[in-house]
Amino acid sequence: MKKNQTKKKNENVCRPPVVVVLGHIDHGKTTLLDFIRQTRIAAKEAGGITQSIGAYQVETATSDKQQAIRKVTFIDTPGHEAFAKMRARGARVADIAVLVVAANDGVMPQTKEAIAHIKVAAIPVVVAINKIDLKEANPAKVMGQLVKEGIVPEEKGGDVPTVPISAKTGEGVPALLEMICLVADMLELKSELEAPLDAPVIESTLSPRQGPTATVVVRSGVLRVGEEIVADGVGGKVKALISDQGERLREALPGAPVMVLGLSGVAPVGATVTKGLGKADQAARHPSIPVLKPSATLAADLNVILRADTQGSLEAISGTLSELEEGGRKVSLLLAGLGQVTDSDIYLARSAGGVVLGFNVGGSASVKKLADDLGVGLRFFTIIYELLEMTENLLKGMSELEKAKVKGGGEVIKTFDLHSGDVVAGVHVTAGRIKYRDKVKVMRGEEEISQGQVRGLRIKDKNVPEAKEGDEVGLLIKPQVDFKSGDKVVVI
Ligand code: GDP
Repeated sequence: MKKNQTKKKNENVCRPPVVVVLGHIDHGKTTLLDFIRQTRIAAKEAGGITQSIGAYQVETATSDKQQAIRKVTFIDTPGHEAFAKMRARGARVADIAVLVVAANDGVMPQTKEAIAHIKVAAIPVVVAINKIDLKEANPAKVMGQLVKEGIVPEEKGGDVPTVPISAKTGEGVPALLEMICLVADMLELKSELEAPLDAPVIESTLSPRQGPTATVVVRSGVLRVGEEIVADGVGGKVKALISDQGERLREALPGAPVMVLGLSGVAPVGATVTKGLGKADQAARHPSIPVLKPSATLAADLNVILRADTQGSLEAISGTLSELEEGGRKVSLLLAGLGQVTDSDIYLARSAGGVVLGFNVGGSASVKKLADDLGVGLRFFTIIYELLEMTENLLKGMSELEKAKVKGGGEVIKTFDLHSGDVVAGVHVTAGRIKYRDKVKVMRGEEEISQGQVRGLRIKDKNVPEAKEGDEVGLLIKPQVDFKSGDKVVVI
């Protein structure tokens, strides 16, 4: 009786944490998620119709008897690509990240990428040092490597918990779950039943039998069958809610993952399901991609994601970029990696309000389209000097805007000639907002070359009423300006 009461009380007060598992390929993310999921099935004995909906919830007993049974929700798609996609629309999805690092392999390129994503998401991390069953396992070495990446384990005097595990044998997994619960306790996640519904979409499909489906994780509020809902312009009435155990639910409480049937279309991953509003209202209130507010420190600097073809050029460029400074603003290198620009780089830049620079590397057509769609500045260079110059110009632009305390502005990156004879400037917005009908001045170096009014803004192929920091926007200004790359557009 007493135990039940405790459990009930906890459910009312604490929301189960939502956990995402990240790490390098083959380090054991899937094995870990499978192991944890199977523990649950074994515990329930007749798992049977368990359905993969993109997230699952487990109940875990902590050694603290007062706490009795705790729930933890895991996002079932491991890896930072999926995580980044969920976050790129501004949704806050996970509360805690588990970074899996194989003890035999150590910190690898995708481990570094995962760390960059975790930092931008500003969520606490628990490191699972995996594969400790292997004789080549060297957890101490992994810890040393983590320190170099700014993840300082408690054992090294920092505040990041690390748990040695074997996802294969299950050794250490209960301790990992317990650590997740401890971190969740510190976050004091509240189960806000009365709050407005906030349920980010983590997976969506078009099922031939069920029509559009969306798996959401309820962060606050309660999602009920029969309610009108909308996600990024896609509306509908909840026909059914299906749990990760294949059960039909009448309602989903905070922390619960649930598959929603009844939406009229496929809701984009990362969109947030909210209640009630009609389609048109919703579209107006929530522009298709809300900008995630970067934290103060991130906003103060120019966030850069750098890709290069060789370790030598990567190090040389990273070194020089970190020395650049204009008016107190510096480059914050969120990630420096080898190889092609990836989708997740674009998502990372979107979330942090940064730019992606490639040196002697390319990006697929789909990466370029994604950057366009999300309004992320993506530039490729083959000459280091040009890369540095452009970065310096972006920094200068930012600090000038800062000094003048202007409402908004940015830097001209390219120009387009329209059939009409008008010239449109492709502008990377480096501060504030630029809006339709704003009066602007155009600066070339120290000199003001023109003043005019904004008569058109286009992001990708859409006319938009305004562009925000981090966007890349096509600006039409009247009277016409003979723009050059590097010019600054400043709202006056
Ligand atoms: P992912 O790419 O990070 O999802 O990695 P997987 O979970 O697919 O694991 C990659 C390989 O490592 C598979 O062959 C797993 O069986 C193996 N593996 C995962 N965890 C462990 C572990 O703790 N010990 C050992 N020996 N092998 C593991």
